Amino acid sequence: MTLPFNKPYLSGNELEYIEQAVRLGKLSGNGVFTGKCQQFLEKKFGFKKCLLTTSCTDALEMCALLIDIQPGDEVIIPSYTFVSTALAFVRQGAVIRFADSRADHPGMDENSIEALINERTKAIVPVHYAGVACDMQKIMDIADRHRLHVIEDAAHAINSMYHFPSGNQMALGSIGHLAAFSFQETKNIHCGEGGCLAINDESLIDRAEIIWEKGTNRAAFFRGESDRYTWRDLGSSFLPPETSAAFLWAQFENLDTIQNTRLSHWYQYQHHFLEHAAEDSFLLPQIPSYAVNNAHIFYLVFPSLEIRTKVINHLQSHGILAVFHYLSLHKSPYYRQKHDGRTLPNADRYTDTLLRLPLFFELSEKNIEKISNLVLEVCL
Ligand SMILES: *Cc1c(COP(=O)(O)O)cnc(C)c1O
Repeated sequence: MTLPFNKPYLSGNELEYIEQAVRLGKLSGNGVFTGKCQQFLEKKFGFKKCLLTTSCTDALEMCALLIDIQPGDEVIIPSYTFVSTALAFVRQGAVIRFADSRADHPGMDENSIEALINERTKAIVPVHYAGVACDMQKIMDIADRHRLHVIEDAAHAINSMYHFPSGNQMALGSIGHLAAFSFQETKNIHCGEGGCLAINDESLIDRAEIIWEKGTNRAAFFRGESDRYTWRDLGSSFLPPETSAAFLWAQFENLDTIQNTRLSHWYQYQHHFLEHAAEDSFLLPQIPSYAVNNAHIFYLVFPSLEIRTKVINHLQSHGILAVFHYLSLHKSPYYRQKHDGRTLPNADRYTDTLLRLPLFFELSEKNIEKISNLVLEVCL
């Protein structure tokens, strides 16, 4: 029997809510369940406005349209991230300035950002890797000084927080001008494929709704604010159908259960590894004091690619699937010719040495212990 890397969580109410959506007879987007999900997210996490999308990739594409990215504009993005973070901006003709990861964390090195800014820079896109906050005070200060937009790629970051030095705490995704979340099935909360855009800069809300609805003012029309709807702007069909929103609602209703269970798994892993963590065996995930843990990913960082490969093979020989994560985008076949040539050693190090262990709702304590022991057999 093999143990998968991920098994999508089901609350048990998904089919009932999908049936309700079907019986309501309005299956296109922006219906009852879409409204429930959006209001829940706005209220719980403090977004000024939330729009469900068919993916995080979509939500990022909406961001690129919303801040009017033009050919030749520059956007600062970590190299150690998923393709979508860069893709949305590259589609609009942007040049990507890749930032390196921190030495102690796969997230972008906030101290490397300012040197990448010039008169063509339009936005900074921090990725909260593993749901662990980037230092948002630092990033927002830089953005203010240079009048840049901040777009949080919060694909991993549902139900996570940032503590400001002032003592305030804010949900990830509520701090930047815009933020994109993913509800793809490997994320903590999911509906197979899905996402949302959080809009925190109120001046962008009306236009976001138009871009969301194929460049028309249909959303305002449905609220009775206009007697017809017409073509107003750029856009696309970014709305998920109500069946997806109904599925998603069944997940949000169980957010606390999902998060508590994942956190418990995460800390069980940490408990097994804690006393053995060292430079020459493996390093554990670091959670800076300004961040909280939302248990999206449990990963280890090994001293070399060879050791990581040995661990993957050892686990696989016992029927357990563990996977590495991103490959530095600045070295990707699509972008390496366009990259400005800087070396990004930390991004490359995580590319070669970071390993994600299975982490999903139904994972048992026994399996966590077994996986941990197998890793330790290779490393000690
Ligand atoms: C998963 C992910 C995305 C893309 O999410 P989709 O909903 O699949 O489009 C974007 N950025 C990061 C960092 C991700 O992990």
